[in-house]
Amino acid sequence: MNKYNIILHTTTSCNFDCSYCDVVKDKKQLDFSKINLFIDFIKSNKENLNLIKFFWWEPLLAFKNIKYIVDNTNMFIWNKYELVTNTSLLNDEICDYLEKYFEIVFFSIDSENFFDYNNVFKLIDRYNLNNKVYFNLIISPWKEIEAYNQFEKIYSSWYKNFNILPVYFTKIWNKDDLSNLSVIMKKILDKFIENKDIKLFWFQNNSWYNASLTYDALFIDIDQKIYYSDFVSTYLWKIIKDDLYIWNLNNFSIWNDLGEIIFNKKNRLNLYEKAITNKIKWQIELHKVMDYFSKYLNIRKWVLKD
Ligand code: SF4
Repeated sequence: MNKYNIILHTTTSCNFDCSYCDVVKDKKQLDFSKINLFIDFIKSNKENLNLIKFFWWEPLLAFKNIKYIVDNTNMFIWNKYELVTNTSLLNDEICDYLEKYFEIVFFSIDSENFFDYNNVFKLIDRYNLNNKVYFNLIISPWKEIEAYNQFEKIYSSWYKNFNILPVYFTKIWNKDDLSNLSVIMKKILDKFIENKDIKLFWFQNNSWYNASLTYDALFIDIDQKIYYSDFVSTYLWKIIKDDLYIWNLNNFSIWNDLGEIIFNKKNRLNLYEKAITNKIKWQIELHKVMDYFSKYLNIRKWVLKD
């Protein structure tokens, strides 16, 4: 039987306002009285879960709830937690907790928001988070060079784990931007090929590039409904939300045969993704650039191996 990643929403608020953000910010919190439903779900499905990921919006706005969930599920899925944060709310208490219980933590940075390098680097060192932290480098059009400079600054400060991703769907990529993106992708990937100490999340594990952030994941929304794909949290994908609905948390077990359900939902998602990608010319070009660099990386790695 397949194992699933669980993506859980604990809040639909964020303290940032990024221009490329498409998530529906209706400022809800996970109802504390219902958290035990989720904990029971983890308990009874522990054999079929890979990890729990706290993702989208700013999860650390609900750190109290995250802590309660981790404290009460940790004995079933030891340290299999991931978190994506914009880093603005990090402090000693949170970093100490991440160090103890989390497997991977993504620090998202872009060229729009203030990123407090010194404070973040200090916290990473103080709590020995080097191996757990991946810098999520978000590249926007007009800001490609800044993104590369951020990469250089982090790399030269001895932090080596990265996840590189351009902004999809919500920003227009013109010819010059795509050409700048190509230049910096090549520079980053060449550095990765030459330096064995760099880790690239996702890119290095695949022989092809996939813009989708979801892979065999069950997404539990703030109202305790389960969906295939966390894309349903965005305006762009909201219109297929009903199609991606799977079940309610309170009477759901992964022991149900999910194979066929997941297969159908995945097809629906892929069709929609293809349809909107085909509608927008620059989106196709952006995918082409990223596909090219996925092949570039894999061919270079293969050649160097010999
Ligand atoms: S940090 Fe993430 S959720 Fe918050 S505004 Fe930016 S993109 Fe949206």
